[in-house]
Amino acid sequence: MERVDDRGRFSARLVARRWLAPGILEVRLTRPADFAFMPGQFLRIGMGGYQRDYTMVSGPDADTIDFCIALVEKGRFSSEILKAGIGTAFQLTGPHGHFIFQGPVNPAVFVATGTGVAPFVAFCRGGVEAALLLHGAGSPDRLIYRDLLEAVLHRYVPCISRLPGDHAGQGNIYPHRVSRYLEQQLRPGTYDFYLCGRRSMIRDATAIIDDRFGHSRIFIETYD
Ligand SMILES: Cc1cc2nc3c(=O)[nH]c(=O)nc-3n(C[C@H](O)[C@H](O)[C@H](O)COP(=O)(O)OP(=O)(O)OC[C@H]3O[C@@H](n4cnc5c(N)ncnc54)[C@H](O)[C@@H]3O)c2cc1C
Repeated sequence: MERVDDRGRFSARLVARRWLAPGILEVRLTRPADFAFMPGQFLRIGMGGYQRDYTMVSGPDADTIDFCIALVEKGRFSSEILKAGIGTAFQLTGPHGHFIFQGPVNPAVFVATGTGVAPFVAFCRGGVEAALLLHGAGSPDRLIYRDLLEAVLHRYVPCISRLPGDHAGQGNIYPHRVSRYLEQQLRPGTYDFYLCGRRSMIRDATAIIDDRFGHSRIFIETYD
């Protein structure tokens, strides 16, 4: 059984890989018995001389370490993980990061684009329920972990700005970007905002929050 050394380094093996949605894999690694983390933290995976960071979606008590990984065009790591055989060993360090739930100080609003939903999945699996989640995705079939998030969180709003005609008016999909929801739908108030995903979303959302929700707190994890 692998162990975590005193610098937070350990090795883990690939035990499973499955498609969560078109272009998004769920990757499952073995978990050393002495590895502990807080939901929302990430691991740094080393691969042939370069490193990439991935947020764990598995809960703090799970037997394995799980990630959701979007395949990026010409992406070095994301194309390698697609080809890696079951049993492949990876070198990791961590846990890293401070994007963790701060407790119920103000009503929590989680905002994610794409696989930026990963820390919120881990929050849910760690027992957080009292939050609104805005999840932006390119299409309805890329709303990964929707069933879990909808079941656990007080409110889940999928946001799809280019909704195909056959989905228009269906379900509870908000047919615009997450930033538009913050600008036009969220009631005035003081919130704890947790933003995770693409830099462009975080920039737009931060500007709107500064403008409309001035006394709120903002916590940020940027993926690109
Ligand atoms: C703290 C942290 C946590 C992260 N957690 C996750 C996670 O849970 N899941 C996840 O999928 N990613 C996550 N990322 C992003 C991840 O670390 C990699 O950047 C991403 O997987 C691309 O790596 P790559 O080697 O495949 O592509 P690279 O070889 O690094 O990039 C190839 C090309 O794609 C562009 N590119 C890089 N990232 C993206 C992107 N997200 N979308 C579109 N184009 C991109 C690059 O600019 C470059 O032109 C996280 C990043 C950080 C900093």
